[in-house]
Amino acid sequence: MGVDVRIVAYANKKATAERACAAAFERFAELDTIMSDYRETSELMRLCAHAGGQAVPVSRDLFTVLQYAQVKARRSGGAFDVTCGPLVRLWRKARKSKTLPSQAEIESARGKVGWKLLELDPRRRTVRLLKPGMQLDLGGIGKGYADDCAQEVLKRNGIRSALVEAGGDIVVSDPPPGQVGWKIEVPNAIDITAAPLLFANTAISTSGDLEQSAEIGGKWYSHIIDPRTGMPLTDRIQVTIVARKGITSDGLSTAISVLGPEKGCAVARTYPGTTVYVRFATSAPNPGQPGRFDKR
Ligand code: AMP
Ligand code: MG
Repeated sequence: MGVDVRIVAYANKKATAERACAAAFERFAELDTIMSDYRETSELMRLCAHAGGQAVPVSRDLFTVLQYAQVKARRSGGAFDVTCGPLVRLWRKARKSKTLPSQAEIESARGKVGWKLLELDPRRRTVRLLKPGMQLDLGGIGKGYADDCAQEVLKRNGIRSALVEAGGDIVVSDPPPGQVGWKIEVPNAIDITAAPLLFANTAISTSGDLEQSAEIGGKWYSHIIDPRTGMPLTDRIQVTIVARKGITSDGLSTAISVLGPEKGCAVARTYPGTTVYVRFATSAPNPGQPGRFDKR
């Protein structure tokens, strides 16, 4: 999935921690072979090869993630959309080459994007992509799910106190021994609390990593796309979500980046136990600099 994964675990014996972490990393590796769009042979990519054709039976993991994704797509009115692959690829190329795509290229990619073009059959556990050329992208939800799964493996292996992090997505279980929570700096919350927040048995995801945006012609283009317009975000929003599960916090942080604070919070309210932190970068960035956030 293109990120480093970090696990911090507490156990009475070193051997217990090592065994548990090895199993959790193995689970991550397994999910990478399912969800990665960097690997041509991943289950996701093999599924996309059938776009425009028959329904394809898929693994329980892939089906679960796609089901969650479709619920988010519906609740966000299509702002979160895992069928956004053709647009993500087009704009990834643009950010690398520093050249904007043509309107015709954007329209062509948009024609292959839309969450209603993704059909799930829970009874047969099959997936059908209605149009040829469709490309699924789980970059906005897969890491949170993988964190959840890794925590389950750690628990099964006797670890109750752990932090799992993949990219901007973190899931924590019980606090470290003798503490009331995991100390995590939520960048967007620092000016409210003036102290790192303490977390236990929860998930924390941040979207809007400035390092992943690029300047083309004096404007900053995010790696997050608004599937409804085919354009990347340019408002330099940063969103952190605290939720019960990683699959929820990850998808929501991406969705709310697209929707903005007001509409975004309305969607977050449909997920009980969720907190939303939003801020915008206001200062015009210097060339080559990711810019600063100075207004919440
Ligand atoms: P995150 O960092 O979790 O916000 O995820 C960003 C990644 O999600 C991008 O790099 C794309 O792979 C993918 N993505 C971009 N825009 C969207 C969107 N509107 N809905 C779902 N996934 C998206
Ligand atoms: Mg996300």
